[in-house]
Amino acid sequence: MTAKKLLILPGDGIGPEVMAQVLRIIDWLAKKRQLSFDVSEGLVGGCSYDKHGVPLTEETMELAQQADAVLLGAVGGPKWDTLPFALKPERGLLRLRKDLKLFANLRPAFVFDALADASSLKTDLVRGLDIMIVRELTGGVYFGEPRGIETLPNGERRGVNTQVYTTSEIVRIAEVAFELARKRGKKVHSVEKANVMESGLLWREEVQKLRDARYPDIALEHMYADNCAMQLVRTPKQFDVIVTDNLFGDLLSDCAAMLTGSLGMLPSASLGAADANGARKALYEPVHGSAPDIAGRDIANPLATLLSFAMMLRYSFDKEEDATLLETAVKAVLDGGMRTGDIMQPGMAKVSTTVMGESILRELDKLI
Ligand code: NAD
Repeated sequence: MTAKKLLILPGDGIGPEVMAQVLRIIDWLAKKRQLSFDVSEGLVGGCSYDKHGVPLTEETMELAQQADAVLLGAVGGPKWDTLPFALKPERGLLRLRKDLKLFANLRPAFVFDALADASSLKTDLVRGLDIMIVRELTGGVYFGEPRGIETLPNGERRGVNTQVYTTSEIVRIAEVAFELARKRGKKVHSVEKANVMESGLLWREEVQKLRDARYPDIALEHMYADNCAMQLVRTPKQFDVIVTDNLFGDLLSDCAAMLTGSLGMLPSASLGAADANGARKALYEPVHGSAPDIAGRDIANPLATLLSFAMMLRYSFDKEEDATLLETAVKAVLDGGMRTGDIMQPGMAKVSTTVMGESILRELDKLI
């Protein structure tokens, strides 16, 4: 069997520091679990601009197209803030997302027991929380036409954006949600505003049709987006998988993320359409940015990136056992009281990025 192709793009700021910990896990998997990848590395963001004059080269884009999965650290920083729009580090990331046609954004909101009291909600509301938000990423009001700002004959200005979804766009994102639910708690909440938006009504009808035709084993509930926001902070544990459009997903995934209390712990995945073999283009990345304020000091939390890599093992490589091993190791390290600065709590041991990586490796050794 040929090894799966994995492209690593550490990026800027803390990106390379947190990615170094993933590379150690990749080594460990090769040595201890006979799981090897064909790994290549590239530049994206400000570091690519510094070397090549663009935030993403055609060669790196081609590597991403050829890869079975891409793992990205973070891009950006004050050094590149004054660059023209087209050369900004973020353009590299946006180009990757666009050219790989990643339409499904997966944002888990998972609370580790040891960190339950870091949430702004009461501990018993979030202990054991495990939600997956599936957000449509390439359609809806952020891309719909017509759009723009115009001046009316009376001199007043008018801003226009258009919320628009087609059947196929709705069906392909709902499929991702139902497939995920099948491997999880078998429950999907589909979220829109069918009461006031026709696009929401179409969304509701198409999701229901798909469920009845192909996913009768999954419990489907429809919920208005405003109610969903309320329910997320009232009784978040009622949710398993939430599927929603680009705009509502943007808001609800950030809201759900904060239930977990820490930016340094949040992974994400973005997936494209399945090819004839069922394989999807995929980009995995932590939710946090490049944290220039702490870059280069070996104090960043590498867990969001490690957990993004665990998602990659599960969703791109079907290595459920190895993904679970890594997540179990993270849990054990947290239970053991190790904390990077961002998740530090009284009585715990404050450790560096490197020591956090070493502790995970030690736990992995114990687990096998
Ligand atoms: P940020 O996520 O980089 O940092 C916000 C705060 O959280 C900072 O105080 C930072 O130190 C802390 N933090 C973030 N990740 C951490 C980690 N792993 N461990 C410990 N602490 C962590 O957001 P920002 O400050 O708004 O943006 C900084 C730069 O990152 C900007 O250039 C921005 O454009 C870019 N950015 C990139 C991405 C991405 O690459 N996907 C996402 C968001 C922001």
